[in-house]
Amino acid sequence: MVLLQHGAQGIMITKRQAQTLSCVIPGLNEAENLPALLPVLVAKLRELVPDFEIIFVDDGSTDATPLVIEQLRQTYPQLVYLQLSRNFGKEAALTAGLEASRGQVVVCMDADLQHPPALIEAMLERWSTGLEMVYAVRETRDDETWMKRAGTSLFYKLMRTSNGLRVPRDAGDFRLMDRCVVDALMALPERSRFMKGLFAWVGFPSEPIYYSPAERLHGVSRFRPTKLLRFAVDGLTAFTTWPLRLLSLLGAVLAMLSFSYGLFIIFKHLLYGDAVRGWTTLITVVLFFAGVNMLSLGVVGEYVASIFAEVKHRPLYLVHRRRGQGLAQASEPAPDQKQLATPDQDPQQG
Ligand code: UDP
Ligand code: MG
Repeated sequence: MVLLQHGAQGIMITKRQAQTLSCVIPGLNEAENLPALLPVLVAKLRELVPDFEIIFVDDGSTDATPLVIEQLRQTYPQLVYLQLSRNFGKEAALTAGLEASRGQVVVCMDADLQHPPALIEAMLERWSTGLEMVYAVRETRDDETWMKRAGTSLFYKLMRTSNGLRVPRDAGDFRLMDRCVVDALMALPERSRFMKGLFAWVGFPSEPIYYSPAERLHGVSRFRPTKLLRFAVDGLTAFTTWPLRLLSLLGAVLAMLSFSYGLFIIFKHLLYGDAVRGWTTLITVVLFFAGVNMLSLGVVGEYVASIFAEVKHRPLYLVHRRRGQGLAQASEPAPDQKQLATPDQDPQQG
């Protein structure tokens, strides 16, 4: 703790200092980026904290990532390698890394150098003044297509309809968290790990920090439009229930309209007596209602699918092997995460 004298009134501000830091990096086929990231990251962390670990979670890479990590571990003993048994998706990989982390503060970042390690210093500085979470927010989205920007904007608007939940706009997974936030995240039991939502759900004093993301150094983004759409639907079903209510409302409005239209036809028939005409109207109405029914079933189906995923209670990820000790109080595996190998032990080698 450092006490600072501040301003003319002499207000005392207590600053805390981090002794240990964990950096969690989920990665899929990042063999080309890691040799560029690690030296910069390690140099930065050495400046900032006495002790740190870098947990790279290999989310089922099929390129040379395991070999590259093995080499990097010779140079950087702080590097911990957590290899998942297959590709479980970034959210699960992030959860695996957070679960394994032991630092007093934890930083999550991508492996492709889009998240500048230099920003960690400013994040840590903000944490030291008492914030529990500092999340990086992209200053611009100029690098993205108008379609992606429009989709993102719609997504944030829809997410904001979730009861009291404020998912900050344009904030990704690049963030620094205090141990209390990580423990709170790990205590959440759900299988659907929509991290943006969970970060917002746990709360704690948090503030944004603005940055311009760099270009991806090598390779292309794994989040193609269809995957992003899937991701958005997962987020919405995990955090909102209004689509279900909207369907009830839509059903009620349509039933009322149909009833009125029925009355209109009956009166028309009584007054003018033309009962046979109206085939076009009939078929249009039938098809329209069939469409609305299918859409409603689809929305309900999304929620049922989420419930199904929850009740199965499968682990979020499986660890195939772990290399490296990391920070001292090293890791007891969580009870519901099936470990296939103990640290530094390859099951294939016995
Ligand atoms: N990633 C992952 N598992 C996946 C997809 C991505 O661990 O199934 C990692 C990826 O290696 C990178 C980070 O998540 O470190 C962000 O992915 P990417 O750069 O492809 O996405 P974008 O920057 O476009 O959001
Ligand atoms: Mg990226």
